[in-house]
Amino acid sequence: MSLNIAWMDHAACAGHPDPDLFFPTADNRLTHKARAICATCPVTAQCSTFQHDTGSEGVWGNQHIKVKDGKRPDTVKLRAKRANR
Ligand code: SF4
Repeated sequence: MSLNIAWMDHAACAGHPDPDLFFPTADNRLTHKARAICATCPVTAQCSTFQHDTGSEGVWGNQHIKVKDGKRPDTVKLRAKRANR
């Protein structure tokens, strides 16, 4: 599947110094900082669509998405893309 990620160029989280904010772990369930950034983002709809299409976990489209085991994509790659835009 070819994914459109051009919208990430316009993401409010692009280049954020701490992309881990968007991928909370069991030890770090707080997402309010990430969601505050999402609240200013012009591509929230595209972000939500991307999450839906990929089954990605983490904060996407101003929501904290938890994915059941066995359906998790390579979030490390997605994190890198979001952080390096
Ligand atoms: S809505 Fe998506 S692209 Fe925008 S800041 Fe939040 S996580 Fe990043």
